[in-house]
Amino acid sequence: MDIAFRTPGVLRLEVGDPDFPTPAHIVEAAASAARSGYTHYTPSQGLPEVRQAMAEKLSSFNGLRVGRDDVVVSAGGGHALFAVYRALCDPGDMVLAPDPGWPNYGTIASLTGAAIERYPLLREEGFSPDFDALAGLLDKHPNVKLIVVNTPGNPTGAVWGEEILSRLAELCRIHDVYLISDECYEAITFEKSHISPGTLDAERTVSVFSVSKTYAMTGWRVGYVTGPAEVVSMVGRVVENTVSCAAAVSQKAAEAALRGDQRPVAEMVAAYESRRDLAMERLGEQGLSAIEPEGAFYVMVEVPTADTVAFASELVAADKVTVAPGEAFGPGGSGLIRLSLASDESTIEEGIRRLGRFVRDRVLE
Ligand code: PLP
Repeated sequence: MDIAFRTPGVLRLEVGDPDFPTPAHIVEAAASAARSGYTHYTPSQGLPEVRQAMAEKLSSFNGLRVGRDDVVVSAGGGHALFAVYRALCDPGDMVLAPDPGWPNYGTIASLTGAAIERYPLLREEGFSPDFDALAGLLDKHPNVKLIVVNTPGNPTGAVWGEEILSRLAELCRIHDVYLISDECYEAITFEKSHISPGTLDAERTVSVFSVSKTYAMTGWRVGYVTGPAEVVSMVGRVVENTVSCAAAVSQKAAEAALRGDQRPVAEMVAAYESRRDLAMERLGEQGLSAIEPEGAFYVMVEVPTADTVAFASELVAADKVTVAPGEAFGPGGSGLIRLSLASDESTIEEGIRRLGRFVRDRVLE
């Protein structure tokens, strides 16, 4: 990203931020809230009517039977994850997170003094968990407190079904650890529907949500958490002691997003799906192999080198295309780069054309 910001005219395929504007009715609701005085602190857990809207969405969309007191509002999904880690981990505890997976699962752990180990996802099986490896890590490390699950997954685009999620829930039960479910991409699925792990084991699952990706609201900074009462109450205290509360106008914007017209979401998801299809077709034409994503807005593409950091740096220097190096997501991302579908179709097409040419020139060298 730093290179992208410094280099004029780059085609940006590394972004994790929707290129769509926040839908107008959400912006309008926030402006009207600001005019009517939502410019002060709110209760640290969040405004009651906002938590009510979240609880209703959690029941209707996710199938989680929760009330508003089971929900805490945070300053985005990243902050929600920090609050959950902070609430549940002591220094010396361990977090298991997917490999490849969002890098912040590890960096957030280091802020709380917890150690991080990655459990491998099997590339050849659509990035499903390697259950033998995961069970081995749980046997080896009695200090594991949390297993992070991320479906739809960043960077993999994998959408895990009930069988995988039930096996994960069972492992958590056997080893008495919490399952932390990061559902920030819940709305962005193509063929399969999203399943919330909390529907399989409510006692041991802490679920993290965000309005960032679903409603193109990354700059508003609103996330929310639900789970067992004792965890939700601790998360509320972490929110209070880190940001006091999520911004009042942003909470009202999130309420309008959750209660309002959902057609803009369907339109954005349809656009990501058609970009996915376009990207897969163009990658194939360039002779590049990619793992077709089932959700989120990323595509993992195979490149002929394990050093994907050098690859990405050379690509931007030579052809002005930015991609995310797979290794940034853990050793499981080796030999892969992540392309984002959160850019318009012409950027995706031209970026893939340049990527193909770059790979061919590199192989010939
Ligand atoms: N989880 C995953 C997997 C992400 O990719 C991101 C953002 O990129 C987040 C959580 C956090 O998003 P936010 O803090 O904007 O809700």
